Amino acid sequence: MGKSFDIGLEMLAGRGVGVGVTLNETQDPPSKIGCGASEERPARLRDSSGGAIGAGTFYLETFGCQMNEHDSEKVAGVLLARGYRQVESAESASVILYNTCSIREKAAQKVFSRLGEYRSTQEDGQIIGVLGCVAQQEGEKIFSRAPWVSLVCGSASYRKLPQLLSQLEAGNRRVTGLETGTDETFETEVTRRDNPWRAYLTIIEGCDKACSYCVVPFTRGPERSRTSASILEEVRQLADAGYTELQLLGQTVNSYTDPSARRMRFSELLVAVAEVPGIRRVRFTTSHPRDFGKDIVDAIETVPAICEHVHLPVQSGSTRVLRAMARTYAREEYLEKVALLRAAKREISLTTDLIVGFPGETEKDFEETLSLLDLAQYDGAFCFKYSPRPNTPSLKMDDAIPEEEKSRRLAVLMDKQREIQRTRNERLIGQSFEVMVEGKSKKEHQWSGHTSSNKVMNFTSREQESLGDYVHVKVAAATPNSLVGEAVGRTEG
Ligand code: SAM
Ligand code: SF4
Repeated sequence: MGKSFDIGLEMLAGRGVGVGVTLNETQDPPSKIGCGASEERPARLRDSSGGAIGAGTFYLETFGCQMNEHDSEKVAGVLLARGYRQVESAESASVILYNTCSIREKAAQKVFSRLGEYRSTQEDGQIIGVLGCVAQQEGEKIFSRAPWVSLVCGSASYRKLPQLLSQLEAGNRRVTGLETGTDETFETEVTRRDNPWRAYLTIIEGCDKACSYCVVPFTRGPERSRTSASILEEVRQLADAGYTELQLLGQTVNSYTDPSARRMRFSELLVAVAEVPGIRRVRFTTSHPRDFGKDIVDAIETVPAICEHVHLPVQSGSTRVLRAMARTYAREEYLEKVALLRAAKREISLTTDLIVGFPGETEKDFEETLSLLDLAQYDGAFCFKYSPRPNTPSLKMDDAIPEEEKSRRLAVLMDKQREIQRTRNERLIGQSFEVMVEGKSKKEHQWSGHTSSNKVMNFTSREQESLGDYVHVKVAAATPNSLVGEAVGRTEG
C-alpha cells in the first residue's frame, strides 16, 4: 500500500546515507552519575516579544550522525508520552533541546555557536538542554560556558530523561545525566519516527573499540546490545505499521552480541529481521572490519531483502597508520574482507570512511591510502581531515600534520575517489534497479530514491508515484554521486 507524502528532493539529499564523496567537515574519562539538582529556576514562560510560549512544548534540533537522528526520535517519543507537544521553532517552545555531535572540532563548535544564539532567552524561562556527545564530553563545564543551559545529558543516560525533566518541572535550575557506566540500552515505549516508510533501529549502543582518534567510547559509553527478542518484536510492530525499510544502527553494528540465552549472531539477526513479513529492505551501518566475516556476506548473498551495500570504514591504507590509530587490522586483512565482498554472487556496493593527516602520516602512508582506493574500488567514501579531540590518545602524538597539508591530501583523495565513482556508476548504464520512491522534485515527472545498493537514483516517471512505493528504473546516465534513469515498471508490495 502506497503512502503519499510531499517531501522534496532537497530534503532527501540532506538525509541520505551518502554513497558520494563527502567532505564532512561542518557536520559535521567516563563521568560519574550526575542526576543532581541545584538552584531554583523561574517558572514564567514568555517569548522575547512578551507573548506566551506554549507550555509543555519542545523544540528538538539534531546535529551529526544517524544514531543521533534516531536518538532524537526516541527523545521526542519520551517527551510526547509525557504530554509535551513538538513545535517547529525554538522561539515558541518551553523546552529547547540540542542533540549534539563532537566527532570533529567543527561539529562541537557549531553547537556552542547555536547555543550562543539563545543567550537572551534565559529570562523568558525557557529550558535549554544540551544532549548527546558534546553534553557527555563537556559535562558541567557547559553551565559555565553557557549559563542559560539547564539540562546536560549524554546519550548513555537518556533513560533518565523523564526523571531529569521532572526535576526541571519541579523548579530545579540545573540537572545533569552524565553516567556512562551502564549496561542498559535506551528503549522507549514511544518513538516518534520522522520518516513514514524507513525506520531506524539501534541494536547496539556505545563502542568498546578505542580507536586512538575517536571520542565515541568516551561520549557514548561501553558497547551494549539489545536482546534479539526485543529487536524482533519492534521489527514486527514496524512492519505492521507499514514500514518496509529498516536500518539497523550501531557504531559497530556487526559487533552485536545478543545478551539473551538465544545468543543470536549478527548475521542470524539480519536474516531474522529480513524474514519478518512486510519488510522489504534491511540496511545496517556501521560495520567494523574486525568483526566482519563471511557469514554476513553469505546472508546478503542469500536473502534478497538484505540490501546489497556494506559500509566498512578503513580510515587509512597504511598498516603503520592503522596501528597508530589502534584499528586492530592491517591493510592486507582489510583487503581480505573486501575480497569476500567482491566474491559474492550478488554485486555488493562498498563504501568507507577515510581520515587524512593523522599525526605522523607520511607522504608514503598517504600514497598507500590512494593505492588502496584503486584496489577496493569504493562506491562512496566519507573523507575527513584528522581533527584532534579531547581525551583521545592521538592528541598527545607527535608530528602533527599542518592544516594546509591535510587540505591538500583531502583534495587529492577526493578527486581520485570521485573518478572511481564516475567509472563505477557509468558501468550501470543500461541496467535496471528497484528503487524506493523517496522524493518528488518540483520539476514535473521527476522523482528520486535509493537502490538496494544505496545509490541515489533521480528518475523520470509519467505515473503519479507514491512515496514509499518501489519501482524499477533503467539507468540512462551516471554522475559520480548519482544515477539518472526512467521508470520501467513497478513491484507490488
Ligand atoms: N564506528 C564507526 C567506525 O568504526 O568506523 C565510525 C563512527 S564515527 C562517528 C564516523 C567517522 O568519523 C569515522 O569512521 C572516522 O572516519 C571519522 N572520525 C572519527 N573521529 C575523527 C577525528 N578525530 N578526526 C577526523 N575524523 C574522525
Ligand atoms: Fe570510534 Fe573506532 Fe568506535 Fe568507530 S570503532 S566509534 S571510530 S572508537
